[in-house]
Amino acid sequence: MNKIIDGKETAKQIRTEIKEEVLVLKEKYGKVPGLAVVIVGEDPASKVYVNSKVRACEELGIYSEKHVMKAETTEIELLELVDSLNKNENIHGILVQLPLPKGLNSKLIIDSIAKEKDVDGFHAENIGKVLIGEEDTFKSCTPYGVVELLKRYELPISGQDIVIVGRSNIVGKPLAALLINESATVQVCHSRTKNLEEKVKQADIVVAAVGIAKFIKGSMIKDGAVVIDVGINRLEDGTLCGDVDYEQAKEKASYITPVPGGVGPMTIAMLMKNTLISFERTMK
Ligand code: NAD
Repeated sequence: MNKIIDGKETAKQIRTEIKEEVLVLKEKYGKVPGLAVVIVGEDPASKVYVNSKVRACEELGIYSEKHVMKAETTEIELLELVDSLNKNENIHGILVQLPLPKGLNSKLIIDSIAKEKDVDGFHAENIGKVLIGEEDTFKSCTPYGVVELLKRYELPISGQDIVIVGRSNIVGKPLAALLINESATVQVCHSRTKNLEEKVKQADIVVAAVGIAKFIKGSMIKDGAVVIDVGINRLEDGTLCGDVDYEQAKEKASYITPVPGGVGPMTIAMLMKNTLISFERTMK
């Protein structure tokens, strides 16, 4: 049996669906969705992420603008840029790449993005709406991608015991909310959790979002569990690996995501999806 949850292939399918939908909407309205990506400073990883987002837009027929700002940019300058993008009718999604350089208040900047254009799903109001299960929000892209992967592989969520290791605002917490809304029983573990191994071992689905290479060992996985690895860690030899010890865990798991090629490609696909959703809302 093939146990691998192929995020690369699933993301490709989603991108194809979006591309087709963009063409239909272009025909109907004479307009396409638009995404503005803002990068401040020189962080190399951020540059790679931003460029791949712009490339994804080009591939799908989504209009994109990349705004590159120097590391010394002031909060006022950044707020002014966001404000102009909020008012720009050709822009349906705004993304400010995090982390921002020191001295810039990320929360202030993110909450200045019009909530109707917050395609990253980081605006406090959108996160709140996810929590209470409202539809007119944006689900943040990585958690959205995890849920989409489970659904497209027709893996049951409702009634499942799910353990998420990691409680960050961008992965663990919003993912817990989405999974609870899908009727799972969710436990969120973190650095202060007691008896972590015992808890992970109970799980039908384990999600690792810890940021520590190979943190989840095979011995922690229940036989037949589904293992979703959100982690992306670069090892000393330059290769990428997840937060799960893949070789060990795949012996126990019924399904498992590889790194790379698992959750990672889904994040950008869901960003494109959110940009499309935003455009469709303005056209209604
Ligand atoms: P974070 O550093 O904000 O949070 C890590 C979480 O892990 C914290 O809640 C912390 O309590 C928990 N943790 C740390 N040490 C622990 C321990 N010893 N035991 C139990 N819990 C522990 O990280 P994040 O931003 O949520 O990212 C997590 C991982 O996911 C990283 O590897 C990151 O690169 C990756 N990531 C991938 C994507 C993607 O698109 N695939 C997106 C976001 C993050």
